[in-house]
Amino acid sequence: MPRTRVVSIENTHNSSGGRTWSLEQIDAIVEACREHDLRLHLDGARLVNAATALGVPPAEIGRRADVVTLCLSKGLGCPLGALVAGSAELMRQARRGKHLFGGAMRQAGIVAAAGVYALEHHVERIADDHARARRLAEGWATAGLAVDPSQTETNFVHIDVSPLGLTANEAIARAEAAGVGISNTVHPAVLRALTHLDISDDDVERAIEIVPDALGARGRVNA
Ligand SMILES: *Cc1c(COP(=O)(O)O)cnc(C)c1O
Repeated sequence: MPRTRVVSIENTHNSSGGRTWSLEQIDAIVEACREHDLRLHLDGARLVNAATALGVPPAEIGRRADVVTLCLSKGLGCPLGALVAGSAELMRQARRGKHLFGGAMRQAGIVAAAGVYALEHHVERIADDHARARRLAEGWATAGLAVDPSQTETNFVHIDVSPLGLTANEAIARAEAAGVGISNTVHPAVLRALTHLDISDDDVERAIEIVPDALGARGRVNA
């Protein structure tokens, strides 16, 4: 019977397809946390994607939480690194906790330098990833894949492969053989494609051409 101390929300949320919690939804959660004396953690691995989709600065989302984390190694494009932010007292404890869990790195400056570069150069371009993901979703839906473009709020495209009579692993192998990397999700028949700073407009157009054929979807009509 653990005593609940923390509520954690993930924004954007991975298994729902990179979708966002709105400020209104977060405010309602904050209110419930206050009422029950709980802290709010924001798992902001993709916080910049959420902020871009919501049209607000990341701080507008982050300031509502007690603790915020942010991955430098996803949409922001660094080889490694993540940030944690919170009150000075909490961060003093976090620094000790980081070391306790083996998170000490004497040469972290080189990681921080990449992070600073990403925060200066890779934030505004996240909107391009989102536009490319929308284009990919629309292209695939038009070509007969079970994709709902209205669910693509950020840089994810979910494909339901069950209408194709394929398992997720079969579909991934076919796409890979055709030169397109697609991954699994927690949903057994749903695949995830995503856009990031190494994916160009041309890559998206090629994936729109290649994947429906590779999965045998060409000419199917979406229900
Ligand atoms: C990737 C990820 C993490 C872990 O991020 P690191 O940068 O490896 O620390 C945490 N939460 C979510 C939702 C993620 O996607």
